[in-house]
Amino acid sequence: MQCSAESETERITLMGGAQSGKTSGVLENGLLYWTDLGEPCNVLYLSATLNLVQQFVQVRMDNLYRQAGVRLHRELVDYETQQITKTTGDQLLKKTGAGFVHIFKSYGSVKELRTLDFRVVLLDEVDEMLTNQSYSKQGSIMKIIEERTHTYANRKKIVIASTPLLKRTSIVYKAFLEGDQRYCHIECPYCNKMQKLEFKNLKWKFANAEQTKVDMLSVYMECIHNKCKIKNNDKTSFLTLEKIKWIPENTEHAQLNHRSYQFSQLYSPIGMTSWEGLAQKFVDCKNDADNLQTFYNTNLGLPYDDVIDNQRPELLHVLQERYKAGTLPEVPRDSDMKPLVATMGVDVQGNRLECELVGWGKNELSWSLGYYVIAGDTSAYGSGAWENFSTFLREGNLPMGPSLVLIDAGFNTPAVNQFCNGTKRVRPCKGGSALRSDRFRHTLLTGFAGYHGNALEHYIVDGNIYKTNLYNNLLLRKREKTKEVPRGYCMFPQDYTKEYFKMLQAEEQVAEHNSRTGKFYRFIFKSRHGTRSEALDCRVYAMCALDIFANKLCKSMNLGLKSTDWDIFWKAAELQYAKHPPNPPKSTINNDSIVQWRTLTDKYTKRL
Ligand SMILES: [Zn+2]
Repeated sequence: MQCSAESETERITLMGGAQSGKTSGVLENGLLYWTDLGEPCNVLYLSATLNLVQQFVQVRMDNLYRQAGVRLHRELVDYETQQITKTTGDQLLKKTGAGFVHIFKSYGSVKELRTLDFRVVLLDEVDEMLTNQSYSKQGSIMKIIEERTHTYANRKKIVIASTPLLKRTSIVYKAFLEGDQRYCHIECPYCNKMQKLEFKNLKWKFANAEQTKVDMLSVYMECIHNKCKIKNNDKTSFLTLEKIKWIPENTEHAQLNHRSYQFSQLYSPIGMTSWEGLAQKFVDCKNDADNLQTFYNTNLGLPYDDVIDNQRPELLHVLQERYKAGTLPEVPRDSDMKPLVATMGVDVQGNRLECELVGWGKNELSWSLGYYVIAGDTSAYGSGAWENFSTFLREGNLPMGPSLVLIDAGFNTPAVNQFCNGTKRVRPCKGGSALRSDRFRHTLLTGFAGYHGNALEHYIVDGNIYKTNLYNNLLLRKREKTKEVPRGYCMFPQDYTKEYFKMLQAEEQVAEHNSRTGKFYRFIFKSRHGTRSEALDCRVYAMCALDIFANKLCKSMNLGLKSTDWDIFWKAAELQYAKHPPNPPKSTINNDSIVQWRTLTDKYTKRL
């Protein structure tokens, strides 16, 4: 077993669904081994919440210690105070015996561990950190764990186990990719060829015309070699310890001494989750993104790839509200559900400008207020699209005036800079990465002026951060019963088409590997083949424009603020809104060179 002390394995990653045996199989047995049965040493067990930790100890460990006859001390040295206390060694969250201390904690209390070293650390349900803790803490928890195991060098064991959540952010999936990526292979009971079971090879017929009920007798797994029909009942013959094999798929590029395993309910023994049950479950939830994610995560033990999911653009129609592009949503007078400020992001193409006006409210709520295409040549300032754009900003009857406009200056740069020269609210920007923790930073363009005669600011925008944020927010839904909207919820006008949402989701997050070593490096955004992405770029710049505007406003308030304080910013925005409420136009613009999204597909794309 890989948990044993002789094994060279230093890291073990277990990615799998609920009850797929990952915790019972490895964590518990590991803990037993590291008591006086095997090689006693200090072990730290961590899980997402104190509740989960207590459950793990009470439901699983206490029994196991008893059954295995592990002797726990009745007297113990308190590891924090170094004083002998008269308490029993069988404390709920601390078990001590001859030569070992087992400590059980939640991720939130890791900081208290600074005095003790561990040879073994078990990290359970790591992806829950994403829902319970802020992202920033996740890094520091990992750092503390590395420090606390440092003295054991290559004799340490770090075990990471979790049900994976979203592919883009999953901690356990990232760890799985870094390891040697082992999948369970079975021998086909009919042709005796080895293979990995995959859900896509599960076949079934429907029992009714509506295709909601799976015909249970029809369910089988198609053998990938000879199309043999493997049935759930055949599991007794192939699902035995002697016959299954864990085959690594990443032998060349895996981190040294890191084994990673994937567990799926397709391999549940008879009497537990069956293939028939999985087929029906999938049919029940295949049109509902949230339930589908749960199916992938807990039943298949796979991270959910919400971005690649082709159904996504269609599913986004639920984010459309009852207002039209170019108008403001109607809200009760004292409701917080309204845009208080607006920003605009502009994408430059050779023969047109595309831009989105986004309204922002408290709790990071956003409303797309209009998507516009301004036709005309963009190569030279002062004519073509630029002339039209000036008119548009001045007389376009926008539902809310943008507090800041960011224009992509990566293309036709001189024209963009000249357009921004001397303006109060329009700034050039460019996508960039490697900004470390900053979402944006600016440089000054000499030869161009900002509003008060200072040099013009040019912004570098970390697109990855904003895209990740946006794609996470697009997954949010209203609460079913109360219709309450969660923080970060995105809203769109009723007249945006499917084409718009396709553009908004033009990119997907993919794993990037180091070109020299082939090792997993980080996630990046890549354009999906053949999809236009102007709407996505416009949104990213509009998001960054809000960030910049809030940052500037906070710093200018003479409160000694060095960075953005969002509470203060929204209070200021509210006051400003009360003083000067937006005065939306009665009718929306209708100028030949300016086309709103609603008509874009009919009128404009034909001319491209
Ligand atoms: Zn076969």
